[in-house]
Amino acid sequence: MELLIERKKVSSALGKSNLPGLDYTLNPYIGCSHGCIYCYARLYSDPRIRDNWGKIVVVKENIVDVLAKEVRRKKKGIVGLSTITDAYQRIEAKEGITREILRILLESNFRTSIQTKSSLVLRDLDLLISKLEIVDVGFTITTLEDSVAKVIEPGASPPRERVEALEKISAEGIKTWIFLGPIIPGVSEESFSEIVEIAKATKSLLYYDKYRTKPFMSGKAKEFAESAKKIDWKVVSDKIERLCRSKGVEIAKAFDDL
Ligand code: SF4
Repeated sequence: MELLIERKKVSSALGKSNLPGLDYTLNPYIGCSHGCIYCYARLYSDPRIRDNWGKIVVVKENIVDVLAKEVRRKKKGIVGLSTITDAYQRIEAKEGITREILRILLESNFRTSIQTKSSLVLRDLDLLISKLEIVDVGFTITTLEDSVAKVIEPGASPPRERVEALEKISAEGIKTWIFLGPIIPGVSEESFSEIVEIAKATKSLLYYDKYRTKPFMSGKAKEFAESAKKIDWKVVSDKIERLCRSKGVEIAKAFDDL
C-alpha cells in the first residue's frame, strides 16, 4: 500500500489519559500504516486521515524536543506508548522518533507501557533491558493465522513474528502482556487455545476485549460487526476465562462492559 508521509510540529507530547492504568498517552505519529480494518483509533483523527486510514501518516517532527522539556516539569506517571497509532509502524524504522522518546521517558523514570503489532520493537531491546523494572511491552494478537492477519491488519508484522518478538522480550525478564482484541467473530476463536498457551509460556498477562461496532465500518469490518451483534459475549468471555484458569494465566478484561 502506498503511504503518504506528512510532517507537523506539535506543542505537546504527553497527553492526559482516560484509559485505565495510564496517566499519560504519547503518540509519535498521527495515523497508522498497519491499516487494521477494525481500527477504532481513526475516530480520533481528522476526516482526511480517518477516511484514508492506513494510507497517510503524519510525523510529529519536533515531539522529541517537546517531550524532553515536558519530562522536566510534569509529574511522574505511567505513559501509554502508544494509544491511537502504532509507535513501531514501518516509518519508525527510518525516523527513529519512538526510540528517542523511549530513551527520554526511561531516563526520566516515567513508567512506560508499550503496545504494538510490530516486531520493530526488538530494535529497542537494549533500552528496554536497561530499565526493565519500569517498562512493559504488550502485543496485540487477534489471530495467529498470517493469511487472515494480512487481510485484517495488512501493514502489521505477521502474528507469528509478533509471537517471536514477545518471546524474546519476555526471555529478557521484561514484563509482557497480550491484548486479544478486538475478538474477531469467526476468526479469533480458532486461536484462543494457542494464544493462551503463548501467554503461559511467556508469563504474559492476557487482556481481552470484544469486537465493537462503529459507524465507519465497511466491507469485511462491517460483516464482522454484524456477526458480533449476534454473539453472546458472556459465553465467549467465560470460555477465555476458563481456558486461562486451566493454564494458570493471569487474565483481565480490557474494559468492564464485557
Ligand atoms: S495497529 Fe492499532 S492504531 Fe494501528 S491501525 Fe491497527 S488498531 Fe489502529
